[in-house]
Amino acid sequence: METCFSGGYIDRATQLRRDAAGLAAAWHSPAMRLLPVWEAQCLIRDGAAGRLTAAELGARLPALEQAVFLGLEAGAPRFAVQVESREAPADLGHFGGLRDLISLVSGCDAALLAYARAMVNWHRQHRHCGACGAPNRPADGGFVLACSSASCARRAFPRLDPAIIVLVHHDRHCLLGRQASWPAQRFSTIAGFVEPGEALEDAVRREVAEETGIGLAHCHYMGSQPWPFPASLMIGFHAAAATADITLNDGELAEARWFSRADLAAGEVVLPPRASIAWRLVEAWYDAVPGPGLATLHREGAFLRPAGATPEQR
Ligand SMILES: [Zn+2]
Repeated sequence: METCFSGGYIDRATQLRRDAAGLAAAWHSPAMRLLPVWEAQCLIRDGAAGRLTAAELGARLPALEQAVFLGLEAGAPRFAVQVESREAPADLGHFGGLRDLISLVSGCDAALLAYARAMVNWHRQHRHCGACGAPNRPADGGFVLACSSASCARRAFPRLDPAIIVLVHHDRHCLLGRQASWPAQRFSTIAGFVEPGEALEDAVRREVAEETGIGLAHCHYMGSQPWPFPASLMIGFHAAAATADITLNDGELAEARWFSRADLAAGEVVLPPRASIAWRLVEAWYDAVPGPGLATLHREGAFLRPAGATPEQR
């Protein structure tokens, strides 16, 4: 199952990270381009990732040691750099956040920008060693932050927060929940963070039971999505329910309901954005029976019922 912010959009060329001469050659290559990140926002130009030459960044170009080597795009080196500036560097172009990434930028470039943003963000938030408090120094192309204290020398690595997300189904219905802060008709799949000492499947069972009181017969993996806002990895499942009675246990959801395909096709539910793995999980379930696909019925935040479609038959 393919998702937004994923796919083979870059060769990470991990062998270059510890190759000082190779990294320097990449840094000085005419094909090298920089992906600047300012205050957790990314440069967007004409619906694509802003890829700058060193000359375009000018005096704001950091030393190679401060840049993160993202990898090679069609053989051309790419580095993420943080732009230190009180005001948005508008002379470089438009810097945008998550909403802009999803709405303005095509798939592969959105993934590249999210990757650059996640790495720069990690550097910004780990300026000091978590064990002794001494300043950290980047190493390995920016993929290690090493404590500068010789007696500590702790090495920190980019961190991820794994979260499960699951579409539960039972008797041709799917289970969707609504958080209290959401609009009345907005529903989505069940999700939650994996805890230490917990397998993914156990996290799926726990979250579904905590939020809806439903027990699961079995679950299986569908796909994943990096969600670097700030550092989540969404791990998607489909699960068959063993029970159907809903009990809102932990107060996380204001409402949870079973929906048929006809309910979804009728447009009564505002589903999650198409860029999300939640949408893809619902779509994969919906499209498992023949007929018009969910994507043909749905346009971001609203349904269009195409002439001749008979969702009631599904
Ligand atoms: Zn330390």
